This record gives sequence, C-alpha cells and structure tokens, in this order.
Amino acid sequence: MCALKPEEKPILLSSPTMHGEELEYINEAFERNWIAPLGFNVDAFEQEMSEYLSKRAFECNCLALCSGTAAIHLAVKLAGIGRGNIVLCSDMTFAATVNPVTYEGGIPVFIDSEYDTWNMDPQALEKALKYYDGRDSLHPKAKAVIVAHLYGTPAKIDELLYLCDKYGVIMIEDAAESLSATYGGRQTGTFGKYGAISFNGNKIITTSGGGMLLTDDQSAREKALFWATQARDSAPWYQHSEIGYNYRMSNVVAGIGRGQLIHIEEHRELKEKIYRRYKEGLKGLPITMNPYDSEKSVPNFWLSCMLIERGCNVLPMKIYEALKEQRIETRPIWKPMHLQPVYKSNNFFTVNGGKDDGINVNSDISVSNDIFARGLCLPSDIKMTDCQQSEVIENIRTLFQEV
Ligand SMILES: *Cc1c(COP(=O)(O)O)cnc(C)c1O
Repeated sequence: MCALKPEEKPILLSSPTMHGEELEYINEAFERNWIAPLGFNVDAFEQEMSEYLSKRAFECNCLALCSGTAAIHLAVKLAGIGRGNIVLCSDMTFAATVNPVTYEGGIPVFIDSEYDTWNMDPQALEKALKYYDGRDSLHPKAKAVIVAHLYGTPAKIDELLYLCDKYGVIMIEDAAESLSATYGGRQTGTFGKYGAISFNGNKIITTSGGGMLLTDDQSAREKALFWATQARDSAPWYQHSEIGYNYRMSNVVAGIGRGQLIHIEEHRELKEKIYRRYKEGLKGLPITMNPYDSEKSVPNFWLSCMLIERGCNVLPMKIYEALKEQRIETRPIWKPMHLQPVYKSNNFFTVNGGKDDGINVNSDISVSNDIFARGLCLPSDIKMTDCQQSEVIENIRTLFQEV
C-alpha cells in the first residue's frame, strides 16, 4: 500500500475537473464582451451537445438553462402539468426531480425502486397507472411520469416507455446524473418526450451550475425558450401574456460547458475505472456495488455506491462517520421522497404489500427504504489517484474486520 501525503486529503465524492479549453472559451466571451445570458458560447454549446446526443441517428434539440432544476420545471410545463394533476415520480432521487411538479400545483405520487438498477420499478408504476386511470374524481388520470437515472445508471427504459405508451402518459426523463450513459446505444434523456441534464458542480461535466432541456420537438424548444427568457410577447415594449422565468444560461458559463464536453467520454471512462476498482478491492466483504443491466445499458458510473448485505452489523452511517474522520467524503443514498417530511402525505406505490389498491403511505417494506438503509455513495472523483482509492478501500475493509 502507498502512503498518502497530507495534501492528498480530503478525498472527495465528486468535484469539478477542468482541462484548459474551458478558460479559452471564457476568454473569448470576455474579449468579445459577450457577458450575457445569451451569445455564441450558448448557441455553440447547444449545437455541440445536440450533436453529441444525436450521434446515433436521433434528432435532439437542446436548450441551455441556468440549472437542471429549471430544465425539469420547463419540461413539467411543456407536459401541461397544472393544479391537481397527478405525476408519477421516482421515489429514490434528489428532490429536484419532483419539486417542479409542486411548483406548478401538480401532485407528485412516488413509485418504488427495483433492485436491478435502483430506479423506478415498472411493476409498481403499472399499479399506479391502473389506480390513476381517470375512473372518477378520486382517481384522476395520471398526467406524466418522471423517471430519474440514479447515479448514472439507466432505468429499465423499454419497460417504462411501454407502460407510458400503453396508458397514454408523457414520460419526462431526469438525466441530471446520467449524461453519457446509454441504453441500447442511445443516450439517456433522449427517450422521453422531454429530458433534463445538469451541469452542477459535482456532475460528470460541470459549468459551475447549469442544465439543458432535451426534446425532439422543435416547437417545444421554442416555447421553453420563450418561458426561459421572461415570456416577452413580440412587441417593441415589454408586454407579457404569460408568466415567464429568467432561466437562460450565461454565455460565460456556456464556455465552461463547451470545454468540458470535449472531455465527456474521458470522464466516463475514468468513472468506470473507479467503479471496477471498488468492485475488485471490496471483494470478499458482504458488499455489492450499485447494479446495472450490462446487456442493455452502459452507465456513466457517476457515483460508485455500495450496498451492504442484509443482516450485517456494519451500517452505512458507521462507515460514513469513520471515513469522515479520515477526511474521506461519502454520502448516504438519496433519502426516498416518500420519507421526506415535505412529501409525507403524498401517495406511494410499491410492488409488494400495501392496501389492496397497491398504495403504501410511508411503508417500511419498500425497496427504496431498504437501499437507503443499506447503501452508501463512495468517493468517485476522477482526479482520485489509485493510491487515494486504495486508502478508501483499506479503510472500509478495516471496518468490516473489526466486527
Ligand atoms: C443534480 C440533480 C438535479 C438538479 O440539477 P441542478 O442543475 O442542480 O438544478 C435534478 N435531479 C437529479 C437526480 C440530480 O442529481
């Protein structure tokens, strides 16, 4: 084992990795005095991202925005979600997947995870789609489904899309964590009617903060652009027939994105290497790594996560605390939405248990609860050296040997 120098700590979960081109694009923005929420970097970043996402014969229109959350919000608006509308959402995810539904007065209903990819369970989704079938006012027809691809692992897209088609609901993909991950060779975020990606500081590529809305529908992009730029009617004075937002990406920030996009595949490969090293290094312990469907999908391995076997008395928070003391950053799995105080009265569907209608409210038997209780996100920073990663692995191994 190699000895770490003091400056090789802390070991971070995921931090920005810059290359140099980013600064050149920023400099160009300064030199041409294009310091505004529009400009040549924004246009080029959208174009370059669109080419990247469309590589496999697919038309994708991108709209650069100030955050991934803004992209999800505009997707929710495009899907026509309004007051009282039911939206079926991934349960185990970051709150930004579902909050935009609430902004619009819609009602998020949560769908449990499955064990194969940790994403939305198609069987639980079908239960919810059957329940919210529009038969009466207590069972309004679900309006949309929002699926997140957790930690960069594609969800069971074929099955989820089939169900959305069958029941006539719109699919929105939250691909905030999964840029560069593919399913059947196609990029996540391009399957649903609308998709969202994020360039927040710890994502696989970053612009410091930012996001994009993805859609194959050119007129939907136009509408979203209108909302994102304060919904100005075409009049010489400021006239508004609709409520708008200030959601556009800055030309300076887009320069960072252009520089980062050049290196996306390199980032993905490094993330995968980290995942493989954990898998190898943690062998023999009662641990599995976050799973994926290796036949259908290629994750981007944004965060490597471990799942501790049932009945093991080493708990994730013990590892979290012990590693924190060693200045190694880990993070609990996203706390499921149905457990969040702000959403505690929203409905929640699981495959097993619950009432006859399939609804569980704050159930203890859900898969998301189980993964939340046994899982932990590990340092997945692509600047992490082999030596640093060995330090993480050795620290984890020690904790299991102590018991
Ligand atoms: C990061 C993230 C978002 C939000 O993206 P921002 O750019 O931070 O607004 C949404 N959903 C998921 C699953 C995320 O991880």
